[in-house]
Amino acid sequence: MAKYDYDIGIIGGGAAGLTVASGAAQLGAKTLLIEKEKELGGDCLHFGCVPSKTLIRTAQAYHTMKNPQIFGLPSVDLPPVDFAKVRERIRSVIATIQKHDSEERFCSLGAKVEFGEPTFADDHSIRLNGQTVSAKTWVIATGSSPDSPPIEGLDKTPYITNKEIFSLDRLPESMVILGAGPIATEMAQAFCRLGTKVSVVQRSAQILSKEDKDMADEIMQVLAAEGVTFHLNVSVLGVKDERNAREVLIKDKEGKTHALRAERILVAMGREPNIQGLNLEGIGVDFDRKGIKVDERMRTSQNHIYAAGDVTGKYQFTHAAGYEGGIVVSNAIFHLPRKANYTFLPWCTYSDPELASIGMNEKGAKEAGIEYSVFTEPFKGNDRSLAEGERVGRIKMLLDKGEKPIGVQILGPQAGELLSEWVAVLNGKVKLSTLASAIHPYPTLGEINKRVAGAYLSPKIFSDRVRKGLKFFFHLKGRACGEK
Ligand SMILES: Cc1cc2nc3c(=O)[nH]c(=O)nc-3n(C[C@H](O)[C@H](O)[C@H](O)COP(=O)(O)OP(=O)(O)OC[C@H]3O[C@@H](n4cnc5c(N)ncnc54)[C@H](O)[C@@H]3O)c2cc1C
Repeated sequence: MAKYDYDIGIIGGGAAGLTVASGAAQLGAKTLLIEKEKELGGDCLHFGCVPSKTLIRTAQAYHTMKNPQIFGLPSVDLPPVDFAKVRERIRSVIATIQKHDSEERFCSLGAKVEFGEPTFADDHSIRLNGQTVSAKTWVIATGSSPDSPPIEGLDKTPYITNKEIFSLDRLPESMVILGAGPIATEMAQAFCRLGTKVSVVQRSAQILSKEDKDMADEIMQVLAAEGVTFHLNVSVLGVKDERNAREVLIKDKEGKTHALRAERILVAMGREPNIQGLNLEGIGVDFDRKGIKVDERMRTSQNHIYAAGDVTGKYQFTHAAGYEGGIVVSNAIFHLPRKANYTFLPWCTYSDPELASIGMNEKGAKEAGIEYSVFTEPFKGNDRSLAEGERVGRIKMLLDKGEKPIGVQILGPQAGELLSEWVAVLNGKVKLSTLASAIHPYPTLGEINKRVAGAYLSPKIFSDRVRKGLKFFFHLKGRACGEK
């Protein structure tokens, strides 16, 4: 039998790679983890989820301070934001979490950590820092990077991406954001709230194009009311560096051109897989523009080489990367065949209000040709929401023809947290009658989950037949009050 240096080698120390490394090492496999940056943690910790959510919270606090009248409080004169201090807060949150993802911690779990950029020499070995290292199984978990779209002049114009935006030394006076996905939407609102004049440029007719239009439009209206300018249905003709400003030339659907000038351009137009330099062609691992191709067990076209996380180009979320890492551990270490199932993969855009989703939305159901019915409840009918000063948004529950829930979307305060109950309901196949009859604490935002289940059940419980039967039973001769 062939002898290898390691049982498993993992390339990339982000959410997916760290999940595999800790699982494999703790199960006793001889594990090698390779990371090209100086620290472990990946995009989520350094340039993604953690800095963005920290920034969003800061922007939300400043926004509340600017709008005290909502809470019956006096107005105050606020000084402008010092972004260096915001950046410091972001750094300190990252540093705190970094300890959990440190080289020492992974070493204590039993994994050897090496830093550098490996290249596959053959399908079992890599070249790293002048040495050849072999492993029985490899996992490619190298993540993704911001896509650089082919826009005229972009290569000669300074622009920023998620790699730079959290470490700016000052708050930009103005910013044009190219793209209107989750990252763009979150950053548009956060920077606008901090005091930047923000414009969003989007090719299609709605922001957050994977979401239902009615929900996405409602978020757009909130952002527009806060001061973000949207240019939808436009194409970008080119960008230019005008020394003290950058110019973005756009064409609207009537064919009219407009020049947008701003201090900064943020490019947030999708992601590309980090596969350069790995020599995937040389070892027969198939990939395309979106990412490395994998089967349901996360195996690439080479059965002993797995890929997980953003590099597969599928669901680019930290929790998806972690889930896929778990699938790899199951298949590669336990040798228990396990397939990835994304039916109830949840996600959330952390705008204010948040938009959280699990399972099918209307757009997905229509595309899949599934017949469905929709039940909704607005947040303005939720007592806690009103007490919190939150009136925007609603919950949407989709049922299939057999009246089984196939998806839920929540647009409103704490939507990401509220979705967790649905994660349990949908994955656990909990009956809607159980959810509707379970006692929820009052007053909570979570009551909206119970209410929407009740909205589906109450016409069944209080049907005309049942009502007539009860009237007969009680021999009702009229109402106790009002009409006879
Ligand atoms: C601004 C922003 C906000 C986000 N917010 C959220 C959110 O709120 N919730 C959420 O779920 N997701 C969010 N995401 C997405 C999330 O960050 C990614 O889905 C997640 O990081 C993917 O994990 P991964 O392990 O696949 O890749 P990564 O975390 O990127 O890890 C890949 C690692 O591989 C390393 N690497 C790359 N190439 C090589 C190489 N050749 N050799 C060795 N190492 C290499 C990289 O340095 C990196 O450390 C956000 C992303 C961005 C950009």
